[in-house]
Amino acid sequence: MHEKMREAMLYEKLTGKNEGKVLCRLCKRYCVIEDRKMGFCLVRRNERGKLYSLNYGKSTGFAADPIEKKPFFHFKPGTRVLSFGTPGCNFRCLNCQNWQLSQGVREGGTGALEIPTTLPKKVVDLAVNHKCEGIAYTYSEPTIFFEYAYDCIKEARKRNAELFHVFVSNGYFSQEMLDLVEKEGLLDAIRIDLKFINDEKYREITGAHLLPVQQNIERVYKLKGKVHLEVIALLIPTLNDSDEDIRKLARFVAGVGKDIPLHFSAFHPYYKLSHLPATPDRTLRKAKRIAEEEGMQYVYLGNTRMAGVENTHCPKCKKMLIERYGFEVLKNEFENDKPVCPECGGRINIVL
Ligand code: SF4
Repeated sequence: MHEKMREAMLYEKLTGKNEGKVLCRLCKRYCVIEDRKMGFCLVRRNERGKLYSLNYGKSTGFAADPIEKKPFFHFKPGTRVLSFGTPGCNFRCLNCQNWQLSQGVREGGTGALEIPTTLPKKVVDLAVNHKCEGIAYTYSEPTIFFEYAYDCIKEARKRNAELFHVFVSNGYFSQEMLDLVEKEGLLDAIRIDLKFINDEKYREITGAHLLPVQQNIERVYKLKGKVHLEVIALLIPTLNDSDEDIRKLARFVAGVGKDIPLHFSAFHPYYKLSHLPATPDRTLRKAKRIAEEEGMQYVYLGNTRMAGVENTHCPKCKKMLIERYGFEVLKNEFENDKPVCPECGGRINIVL
């Protein structure tokens, strides 16, 4: 084990008959890890009773992206974020778009971690030098590189760099992680994937469960005003694109908050689901209609070339407030950064 390896946060050393084992409290899997073994994510290792993060600093895929690409449509529209991810994930999605990264260790061994280290100081330099307004911890699951993200956030604060920080997450983080995020005000926004609305499908396609994700959506929404929430659902033909599933999903999100921005995204055949067809535009349009019938106020369609499906309208008077196409903000009608409709004065759930 490398001397300078970063010790993990949010774990405890077990005692008694479990002496030598550790309990990781970073995500909902709560792995009990034996000495010299790794957790489910394959990037946290117990070394003589101490847990270490193996993917600390192993960031890759650096890009300065529009925040709309994450997608966040109601958080700092029109800004640019420095994006990156690291190897490792607590899910096993059969359609993962970034499987070389997220499943790299599982598919190819620890060689996948042989990436030059980029320390938090350098990450903040990159964000500042590329004129980004924030940092997006993304591509793979940011919960799994929490210590790294934590140190990047602390480094940015130490230097008074005016950067916001957002997680693009599968929503499987633990209560303890979110408690820390809340207590230390670490994150400004979290975008959560709600992949299926039925537990069996969740298990079959992602290897995880539905309920913890639903609980985290509810919990993050309660942090409104401190942490902004958006939800995305990828529509996969035959797996979750029935009227019934879409309605159930929309009804759940509407039950949490009708003003949560909800994105439906088109699936493209990939990885272990390459035998399935791409999502047709008519399915996306259907999903938007159903979600609006369920009362959702801001429904967006992604991974499609259809026009007009990325625009924000005032739910009350229907005025178009933001016009977008292809992740680009073409027009923004908000005045003086106030989250109210300039036409009718209605309040909009947006952080400007
Ligand atoms: S982060 Fe999650 S998957 Fe990884 S070791 Fe901890 S509890 Fe297990």
